[in-house]
Amino acid sequence: MTRRKLAAGNWKMNGQAAELAELEALTSTCPTPGVDVLICPPATLIDRMTGLLDRLGASTATGGQDCHSAETGAHTGDIAATMLADAGATYVILGHSERRQDHGESNADVQAKITAAWSADLIAILCIGETEAEYKTGQTLDILHQQLAGSLPDSADAARLVIAYEPVWAIGTGLVPTLDEIAAAHGFIRSALTTRYGADTAQGIRLLYGGSVKPGNATEIFSVPDVDGALVGGASLKASDFSAIITALEAAPAA
Ligand code: PEP
Repeated sequence: MTRRKLAAGNWKMNGQAAELAELEALTSTCPTPGVDVLICPPATLIDRMTGLLDRLGASTATGGQDCHSAETGAHTGDIAATMLADAGATYVILGHSERRQDHGESNADVQAKITAAWSADLIAILCIGETEAEYKTGQTLDILHQQLAGSLPDSADAARLVIAYEPVWAIGTGLVPTLDEIAAAHGFIRSALTTRYGADTAQGIRLLYGGSVKPGNATEIFSVPDVDGALVGGASLKASDFSAIITALEAAPAA
């Protein structure tokens, strides 16, 4: 099965209306990318970003960075998956390590959010990855196993699920695992998905690498088997950097 490659930008808590200008620069340098392109801005910008992309005639999708597991209710400051969809989002990042660390999100919380995202017809990007201490003590694959086992719902539609392998120690640090380590993690995730959902579904689920992806290392990371794209933080904020990453992904060998 051919998996369509995905370049996903996570703007985190960065960006106001003025930064939407980066989109015009991005769509002019990458007018019709041969890969899926997604930007997850702060929730305050989803509606405007979606409208602007429509006006620019760009096929780039927008996504949220988190959602609540409930559809409505007394949850001050939270956003329901249906609200993200209503604002124009088609994806949502879930279980990002910054959410797990800053908001104490457990695997069970993330599982409930994935279910809510699917009910709202959103594509869920599940983030998993080990901390520096876990990496240094050789626990990477155990942690991935635990996070997959605890965060994934019992059944899955491959078209609605993306997994992002994001070593916590590589996020925003400039550090990146070796290509062999990325290959081992992605191979492990693919086989865990096969055990869980069967080969047909597992082969259709896109696996992204995330953690200090930059124009200078994107080509080699995209050459690793089972890397179907990237989740990009810092480098997605600058159109020139993100478009260089998109171009590297387009040039990468097919999955
Ligand atoms: C991220 O936050 O998901 C991320 C990968 O960040 P960065 O690219 O800045 O390391």
